[in-house]
Amino acid sequence: MSDNSRTYYPTIGLEIHAELATNTKMFCRCANNAFDSEPNAHVCPVCMAHPGTLPVPNKQAIEHVINVGLVVNGEVANFTEFDRKNYFYPDIPKGYQISQYKYPIVSGGELAGVKITRIHLEEDTATSQHSGNVSFINYNRAGVPLMELVTEPVIHSAEHAMEFAEELRLLLRTLGVSKANMECGEMRVEVNISVSPDKEKFGTKVEIKNLNSFNVVGRAIAYEIKRMTDLYEDGRENEIVQETRGWDDTKQITFTQRRKEQSEDYRYFPEPDIPKLYLHEMFNIDEMRQTLPELPEEKRNRYRNEYGIKDEDIESYINSRELAVLFENTIIAYPNDRELVKLTSNYITSDLVGLIKKGSSILENGEIKEIDFIKYIIPEHFATLIQMIGRGDISSRGAKDILAILATEGGNPEVIAKEKGLIQQHDESALRNIATRVITENPTVVSDFKAGKENAIKFLVGQGMKVSNGSANPTILEKILREMV
Ligand code: ADP
Ligand code: ZN
Ligand code: MG
Repeated sequence: MSDNSRTYYPTIGLEIHAELATNTKMFCRCANNAFDSEPNAHVCPVCMAHPGTLPVPNKQAIEHVINVGLVVNGEVANFTEFDRKNYFYPDIPKGYQISQYKYPIVSGGELAGVKITRIHLEEDTATSQHSGNVSFINYNRAGVPLMELVTEPVIHSAEHAMEFAEELRLLLRTLGVSKANMECGEMRVEVNISVSPDKEKFGTKVEIKNLNSFNVVGRAIAYEIKRMTDLYEDGRENEIVQETRGWDDTKQITFTQRRKEQSEDYRYFPEPDIPKLYLHEMFNIDEMRQTLPELPEEKRNRYRNEYGIKDEDIESYINSRELAVLFENTIIAYPNDRELVKLTSNYITSDLVGLIKKGSSILENGEIKEIDFIKYIIPEHFATLIQMIGRGDISSRGAKDILAILATEGGNPEVIAKEKGLIQQHDESALRNIATRVITENPTVVSDFKAGKENAIKFLVGQGMKVSNGSANPTILEKILREMV
């Protein structure tokens, strides 16, 4: 940084859309299943916008939004209504989108240290596909329930924006209200961002759209902060204009998509075909609050307090229900043995996750098998494996081999260990016999060790492993050798 370089303050607010997981669309009975079927397989006069049809709101979708609101401690409105947001586009067949304007379902709230402005409900658009001069429209997605969450402009870094978005995805999944895959557009993050040399005053904001992964969200924000900062540094801040920008993934830059001369006028007005809703009469909000599932933050705290395992491990369980279920069901076998609990967690989060990441496992005989630990690893068996490792019955190498078998075809680890000759001898008298033999057979090495050559002991242990066909417990063998020489 040069001496005269100034500090610039980035400000970010997010608008996040999530397609809600419901059986049917927002205002009709068509299946909410846009991409698992042929184009225009799930359409009817309502979602195709035929004149004279009447929308009927989907209660399940409203319930989903209320649940999200409860979790973020927002205020669930009693009175709520739908509005028409008027604009023309081929993917919006009615000429307006049913959305919410003045009376959203949820107001306020907070998540990951970010204040939430509102959460409302609207309908998704159709999707279009272009091929040469021809455009195709698929109405399967038209009318799919879409939740929109808007944050206050209180985020000041790419990292915090990503953290918020990831925490929200986790929450949507935990609640089962959305699959929230960004890659499929089930969750869409729009970034509003401005940079200002004055901490007390916002700069002009731009909006970045079409960001299809958390990573891209982070990179687009970083790029935009630099772009705007450079313009300020060059005295060209008048070139920062209110606009919508897109992300070019090949060039790794944002680019102008649409200039906003003035704020668009959607001529919002209350949707006359849908009755006003009184949510506290439609739903038992208190009971909904009582029956929320365990939330990510609660689970983090419980894992930290009850099991004392590493934060990194905890995040693995927060992000994978299957791993968490395996962990919790395994340690039922030894709930008070902290060491075994930690060992269990180590084996799940490093060895098992390692196998899963590889996607398949190469068994001893060179055979490649798909990992399906959910199907094959029975928690009781996994607990047995951990107990065997804890007792030193098997080496860590042997444990890895057994785990690979457990994850690909299952079985009882005790039986597998015996079959494969992986049981380690830690019976002192057996090991003593091995040690005696090694000492007698290697007199020079023994005297080297006695003369202070520390490494010689490793050679003797190695010989002992050989004599025992790898079945000796090397730690105990070394201890015995040291005692005997
Ligand atoms: P608009 O009227 O352009 O839609 P809103 O006030 O409704 O703007 O805000 C839309 C989003 O932009 C919100 O997430 C809000 O937090 C964010 N936002 C508003 N002003 C700024 C700003 N100066 N810099 C960054 N984000 C902002
Ligand atoms: Zn329909
Ligand atoms: Mg706005």
